[in-house]
Amino acid sequence: MIEALYESDCPALKLLARGKVRDLYEVDDETLLFVATDRISAYDVIMKTPVAGKGKILTQISVFWFEFLKDVAPNHLITADVDAMPASVQQYRDQLRGRSLLVRRVEVLPVEAIVRGYLSGSGWKEYRARGTVCGLELPADLRESQRLPAPLFTPSTKADYGGHDENIHPDRCAEIIGADRTAEVARTAIDLYTRAAEYAAGRGIIIADTKFEFGVDSRGALMLVDEALTPDSSRFWPSCAYKVGRAQESYDKQYLRDYLTSIDFDMATPIDLPPTVLDNTLKKYIEAYVKLTGNRPDLD
Ligand code: ATP
Ligand code: MG
Repeated sequence: MIEALYESDCPALKLLARGKVRDLYEVDDETLLFVATDRISAYDVIMKTPVAGKGKILTQISVFWFEFLKDVAPNHLITADVDAMPASVQQYRDQLRGRSLLVRRVEVLPVEAIVRGYLSGSGWKEYRARGTVCGLELPADLRESQRLPAPLFTPSTKADYGGHDENIHPDRCAEIIGADRTAEVARTAIDLYTRAAEYAAGRGIIIADTKFEFGVDSRGALMLVDEALTPDSSRFWPSCAYKVGRAQESYDKQYLRDYLTSIDFDMATPIDLPPTVLDNTLKKYIEAYVKLTGNRPDLD
């Protein structure tokens, strides 16, 4: 049995926020602690039952990518090893082991750096309506889920809690964070995506798009923050089932979405999930991890 963590409880640390999946604590002025719980959401609704082990896999996927991509861009990760964290954190090691990141606290840029390699989601919606994505002109006659001629930097604003992010034109992004910084973010985000997507493609996973967040350290240097290239921040598609001209199955959430459809889920009331949905969902996360890294995730 894998033990589930629905909500972390670390009273000696200051809780800054609980997101849909992660709890965020202040450790000191310079460091934060991210705890990936086993909560799962679909259509922005958090389910009542956790997927035991999911937070550990998500954390280990981020750690894998931070290491893999560290030559492309520096990142905020200090350690994922609870035994190397400050004593104030270690006292909660039983809850935190395998699912926590100690990170450098930096000034986060107020935009999300989305990179799209394929036409899907809100990008497909805008393209179908206007022939553009984030106001950027694209070739005519692209089909749903088609690979784009080149990866596209399509920033969005960061919505406050409960709000929805809004796609913006890169020119608007330049007004918010400056033209030079925008160019640097766009270049870095595309480099990160390209390197990761090429690697994943060789392992049977299409990374259709992803959302990065960047911060700026005290010397003004750009740093990759938040999570990196997880199924929560990206569209992962199994290559073997890929077919252009239609929506693709999601790697991790498909069982859950199919189940919610089958029971006429009303999107307003969080519900309990049956064991088969939990098992099958966890299996997909494990499969994604194994495919990407060649190793089994550590779920102990
Ligand atoms: P969601 O569950 O939809 O993602 P959310 O974005 O509110 O909701 P989190 O993603 O858990 O919840 O919130 C994490 C917050 O921490 C984000 O605002 C992110 O920008 C911020 N953050 C990430 N890395 C750092 C860092 N190194 N320093 C400071 N803040 C950071
Ligand atoms: Mg977030």
